[in-house]
Amino acid sequence: MSHWMKAVLVCAFAWTIALLSVAGVGTQPVADDRMPSDWEVDEHYFEYEYEEIFDYYIIQAWRGLDEPVPAYTPQMVARHTELVGRLPWVTPTASADRNMVLGRTPGWPKNPDWPDDPEIPPQTMYGYQITDPQTQGDKVKVVLAAQNHSTEFTGSWVLEGMVNFVAGSDPRAVFLRERAVFYVYPDINPEGRYQAVHRIDLKAAPDPNAGTNMRKRGNPELYAAGEKDHNRVWTTSGRFSTIDTITAAMKKDTGGRADYFWDMHGPQEPPNWRSPRMEARINRYALALMQREPDVLRCGPPGDFKRNVASGPPGKMSLWAASEEGLNVTYPYVYEPGGWTRQRLLEAGRNLALALHDVLSTE
Ligand SMILES: [Zn+2]
Repeated sequence: MSHWMKAVLVCAFAWTIALLSVAGVGTQPVADDRMPSDWEVDEHYFEYEYEEIFDYYIIQAWRGLDEPVPAYTPQMVARHTELVGRLPWVTPTASADRNMVLGRTPGWPKNPDWPDDPEIPPQTMYGYQITDPQTQGDKVKVVLAAQNHSTEFTGSWVLEGMVNFVAGSDPRAVFLRERAVFYVYPDINPEGRYQAVHRIDLKAAPDPNAGTNMRKRGNPELYAAGEKDHNRVWTTSGRFSTIDTITAAMKKDTGGRADYFWDMHGPQEPPNWRSPRMEARINRYALALMQREPDVLRCGPPGDFKRNVASGPPGKMSLWAASEEGLNVTYPYVYEPGGWTRQRLLEAGRNLALALHDVLSTE
């Protein structure tokens, strides 16, 4: 039977189960939607329908592209997560429910002073992990996060590219799943992303000068408290619901320690990656990454670009991840892809995974 016919049959089966569940005819656990463990998963498996929304008004780096990159919406996070979650080597993280949901945001009411701005409905936060369930023992822990900054859709495409490779049937991905566990948090600022996609200005927020910049880096909960940047509040506790949910989940899921951590951002010129830890700039993973992506700049000395990557403020996510109070991450990284095509962004994610394969396969 061809892969396509198999896909149709399995999809039809999954939909039947889903419809029966919705109709209340027996409650099927998610595991029954699973693909067989010998399933061949290529990149076509991860294709899903989405509405293309373009946000040229914000990101200068995308203006010159013939094929601009679509915004990455909360609906796309849900659809991609659902697809990935059917695979037998993907499970909810310890703090997520069986639908891989960590929790929901409070939402934001409609502001009558700004009738063009819609309300923000409660948004979903997801967490899932990818690893071979048959292989036990100590595994390398890798944490992946995207959407820290609301309008930086590039980071989401890079995360999707990395997940699609790691969760696929390429023998190198199979090897990675035997040696590592990937903790994936695809939308760590979902109200901010909703706001960015829907072009909400929230002009009535406390900082009258923030203007349209507000939707770039924060979310309404932050603005109401006078904070503008979602990547400056990771050391807060009890102030912001999404920060509290995500930090608690990452700590519980990883047991409070991880080896690698990727916080996906961008786009930026030149495309670059960086780390607040000197050792992470010169380790074997860093060298493998430079081989895989020679056109992407490693920040910091000896060059001048983003030389002070190690300096604070401590509320940056990579610094929180590296801290004792955070995840005690040995190699924390931030990725800033260039103003690239969707295809190149997906390839970047694959390269982040392949560089790890280069390291683990030659140890
Ligand atoms: Zn950013």
